[in-house]
Amino acid sequence: MREYADPDALLAWYDTHARNLPWRVGPRDRAAGLWPDPYRVWLSEVMLQQTTVAAVRGYFERFTALWPTVADLSAADDAQVMGEWAGLGYYARARNLLKCARVVVADHAGCFPDNREGLMALPGIGPYTAAAIAAIAFDRPEVVVDGNVERVMARLWDIRTPLPAAKPVIRAAAAWLTPADRSGDYAQAVMDLGATVCTPRAPACGVCPWMAACAGRATGVAADLPAKAPKKAKPLRLGHAYVARRSDGAWLLERRAESGLLGGMLGWPGSDWGMDPVPAPPVAAHWRDIGVEARHTFTHFHLRLRVHVAEVGHEAAPERGDFLPSAAFRPSELPTVMRKVFDLARTAFDTGGQ
Ligand code: SF4
Repeated sequence: MREYADPDALLAWYDTHARNLPWRVGPRDRAAGLWPDPYRVWLSEVMLQQTTVAAVRGYFERFTALWPTVADLSAADDAQVMGEWAGLGYYARARNLLKCARVVVADHAGCFPDNREGLMALPGIGPYTAAAIAAIAFDRPEVVVDGNVERVMARLWDIRTPLPAAKPVIRAAAAWLTPADRSGDYAQAVMDLGATVCTPRAPACGVCPWMAACAGRATGVAADLPAKAPKKAKPLRLGHAYVARRSDGAWLLERRAESGLLGGMLGWPGSDWGMDPVPAPPVAAHWRDIGVEARHTFTHFHLRLRVHVAEVGHEAAPERGDFLPSAAFRPSELPTVMRKVFDLARTAFDTGGQ
């Protein structure tokens, strides 16, 4: 007869196998009475939304070096924060990050609420993030279900209903296992198990603390779970991007509107994005279509931007955007799609279109 999955067995595994993460207080330090800094937990959880641990580490370390506390972040310059966020994607998160830091400082004396309901009232914190912060930072017995946890639960309980329809039953399974003690460690332990042992393609069942209890392993279907409903094909949108370089080396850039995709980020002026975009050069110039496209995939669509370049003189008077001196321009502050445009344009400038 199969055993039941025991949260204590997982916690014992976590005590020796916990990942070393820069925002984490490991199990030994937690047992010694150390608490995680809610600011660091919150920052890491916001950064980790839709992003991997590997991608987040460097950003997290830079952010916490620049802004060690929520008060520091709340007082930060918006453009600098957006610039530091560039490349992480989902830029609404960065705008909400600032909003949230300012609310925490203004309305909560710089202290994050210590429960899910209070956290959910803050900008940019949805049910998952609130549960994760409440569990990890405040040891609340919240049910925390991310992609890793979904995979572990689907396998452990042999849940074959495809996602997303399986979400409620997966959540119920996760809730059933969540312990009242060491809830924060437990939440992180399931995530670590999913990230390091119960991995998407080849679960290492032989070293899993829940091996004897795992229904998916027993029936031989673990590696195929969770089942997923077929994805809808993403539509394609087209657009034009314009990269102008002035004779003194300054670049013509514009800050995008606060709302909408890439809101508040620095970028190259361009057309609308759709099936039949209307060319919209931002300044009168001899524009050259360099014949290559910057390609990028957003959550809901693929984008192809035709890149146009122009060398302009000092008299150039743009209708949109402003010239940024080359010394003040940091390509790393561009969102990824705009960085791709820049890389293509720079090659075209360097080769003179040969
Ligand atoms: Fe995942 Fe295998 Fe552990 Fe089951 S036994 S939870 S499939 S690693």
